[in-house]
Amino acid sequence: MEQETSMTDHCTPCNTSNGDPQDYRNVPLITEDAVRDALRKYVLSSYCCCRPRSEEPVIERLTQLPLYRYRLATFTEKRHIEKISKPYTGQRIEAPEREPALQLWDINVCTPKMFHEGSKKCPLPQSGEIKTCLKCGGRGRCKCSRCGGSGQFRCGCSNNRRQRSRNKRCPSCSGSGRRRCGKCSGRGKKVCTSCKGEGRLLYYQQLSVKWKTLYSEAIADPHDQESSLPVILLQKVTGKMIMMDDEVLVHPLAGCPDVAEISAASERLIQEHQNTCGPLCHILRQRQTVEMIPVVQVQYEYNGKNLSCLVYGQELRVYSKRSLHRFTLSCSVM
Ligand SMILES: [Zn+2]
Ligand SMILES: [Zn+2]
Ligand SMILES: [Zn+2]
Repeated sequence: MEQETSMTDHCTPCNTSNGDPQDYRNVPLITEDAVRDALRKYVLSSYCCCRPRSEEPVIERLTQLPLYRYRLATFTEKRHIEKISKPYTGQRIEAPEREPALQLWDINVCTPKMFHEGSKKCPLPQSGEIKTCLKCGGRGRCKCSRCGGSGQFRCGCSNNRRQRSRNKRCPSCSGSGRRRCGKCSGRGKKVCTSCKGEGRLLYYQQLSVKWKTLYSEAIADPHDQESSLPVILLQKVTGKMIMMDDEVLVHPLAGCPDVAEISAASERLIQEHQNTCGPLCHILRQRQTVEMIPVVQVQYEYNGKNLSCLVYGQELRVYSKRSLHRFTLSCSVM
């Protein structure tokens, strides 16, 4: 249903509030003055400098086509326990727990501020175990992979017949035919990369926690896509908040506002967010909002042409399917 507004309507400020859902109906969120300002800026920025700038766009008709945007944010905590190893340097470790091991969600972790993402890792107490390093067999050193443990390798000159026939001394090996391995400095062994030379590893369990917010949104157009604004543009503007619900677990909205798509989207998205959680991921908080995004269809006359565009969002952005730039170019070459 179109909401026609006369040219004398006054502006209603688009304040963000948790107001009465009945307030939003029949309110022209974008006034003619605001449209004129937005249109003037749009026209001036679209036309090239050689065109006369004095000419004003003349508004012929305004049609309010507000949209509703439902947004759901779910703040989640994901936990898992991983086995970690590090070189054992002789530190004291607590004896393993004799009682049943701690359950994943019984471990006390300080939660950050709601909807603030982050992560944390903490070793579990009494989970340490010392083992011999398998890579080096506890020796702390491994055979050099480049020279195979000999500390040297064959110099390239031993295959170079021409050099040998000239009886020249090879500068790389001084004629010995063998070169010292640079990787292990001729020792044939390297410090073990796993245990860093310690020969033993400390294995322990580490709790890894991640806090993340899932976001979903849906747009409801009670005017059946008349405005046809690309979704990506709508994501960059704000609307008038007409409902906000912030709880541990929110419930699907019923009949608020009177756009059936909003209630359906709320039910569907809440279910989707719940489905992504499970034994390893818990919901800590949810927030759902409904915004009314003002959209006005503007028919105007400029430079003798009848044009139309949409002015949308509290930021009063202008969208036109037909680029004014193209129109300007075609005009200026005539
Ligand atoms: Zn080597
Ligand atoms: Zn050589
Ligand atoms: Zn090792």
